[in-house]
Amino acid sequence: MIIDQVSHVTGLAGTLPDERGRFGAFGGRYVPEGLMAALLELEETYLLARADSRFSAELGELLRTRVGRPTLLHQVPRFAQTLAVPGVRVYLKREDMTHTGAHKINNALGQGLLAKRMGKTRIIAETGAGQHGVAVATVCAMLGMTCVIYMGAHDMRRQASNVMRMKLLGAEVRAVDTGSRRLKDAISESVRDWVANLATTHYLFGTSAGPAPYPMIVRDLQTVIGMETRNQILQAEGRLPDYLVACVGGGSNAIGLFHPFVDDPLVELIGVEAAGHGVETGDHAATLSAGSPGEMDGAYSYLLQDDDGQITRTHSIAAGLDYPGVGPELSYLKDNGRVTYRTATDAVALHGLHTLTRTEGIIAALESAHAVGYLLEMAEHGDLPADSTVVLGLSGRGDKDLAIAAERLIR
Ligand SMILES: *Cc1c(COP(=O)(O)O)cnc(C)c1O
Repeated sequence: MIIDQVSHVTGLAGTLPDERGRFGAFGGRYVPEGLMAALLELEETYLLARADSRFSAELGELLRTRVGRPTLLHQVPRFAQTLAVPGVRVYLKREDMTHTGAHKINNALGQGLLAKRMGKTRIIAETGAGQHGVAVATVCAMLGMTCVIYMGAHDMRRQASNVMRMKLLGAEVRAVDTGSRRLKDAISESVRDWVANLATTHYLFGTSAGPAPYPMIVRDLQTVIGMETRNQILQAEGRLPDYLVACVGGGSNAIGLFHPFVDDPLVELIGVEAAGHGVETGDHAATLSAGSPGEMDGAYSYLLQDDDGQITRTHSIAAGLDYPGVGPELSYLKDNGRVTYRTATDAVALHGLHTLTRTEGIIAALESAHAVGYLLEMAEHGDLPADSTVVLGLSGRGDKDLAIAAERLIR
């Protein structure tokens, strides 16, 4: 009971964003005039819903009965042994065990309920790895709403099984053939659709980025990960962990895990970005580690751009991390030093995936495998002190990546 109260209070302790949707210098609302009213309607609906106990009761019940929350937090002793650091204990927060197999459903469900509150009947969304698209299509089937998913043609090829799942769930999947045919281009197409269909349509944005109020809404909906973790680790260890490690694409699973711990200075927060073929090669998606601040997709945040301010092409083996932007709150937490950002290459992620699979029987998503692989490197480089307690955010399961993993790991 006491633990419940502590975590509840801490989870809601954040006072940011401010009323202009800013986290320090980052965030805001850089959108065409036509979208401003829709964003303000969404913000108002959300703030009313957040204060309404019926909304949290309905969301909480659906998270329990339909998503499978709380997800497990458990130790992985055989994996921890491979780190070869005396006394180290590693816990996994198992978002891969949610219905549909990734944390994305926490956000999709919450925004689906908000859309209903606003009287919208049609949902559109962008997707990269397809996990967000599958989560949205699932929620639309549950709530009886029309669903259109925009997906880069390049991503459709490498995540074919998720495309089939979305179609089976009744969603229309629209291939985006513009630009680099990846997540960024799918976002642009979604915005175009939204502007044309504001009266009927909610744009269910998939990560804690984009214009205000999305970074706040998505963070709050994903903070269930960190609140549960806090309760569970206190139950298991009687103290908070020394490290939280999570992969960073747009940033939603990371901020969801980190947020309830931001005011605990002894808990080190490590976000792991995709280094692709290596940050030095330019073929990567390490936005916070190698980028600079600028304006993209409706917000001011770190992004990957060239000297002329052109958004650069990204690469990651994990489609869900292959994005040149990142959420404004994670940018803020970089500049104030609260979160440390590190990177893992494609090869390090594959090594992480392989090691966790062989030691614990858990096939992680390639995105999550970046956090796993980074922890292995951290230990190898002597940067993980003896007797540390580590919580690894396992954002999703690897079924969607089987073809890639098979090609690279099965001899
Ligand atoms: C989408 C995705 C990510 C990256 O998105 P964030 O918003 O950074 O969490 C990470 N892991 C999995 C499994 C995903 O599907």
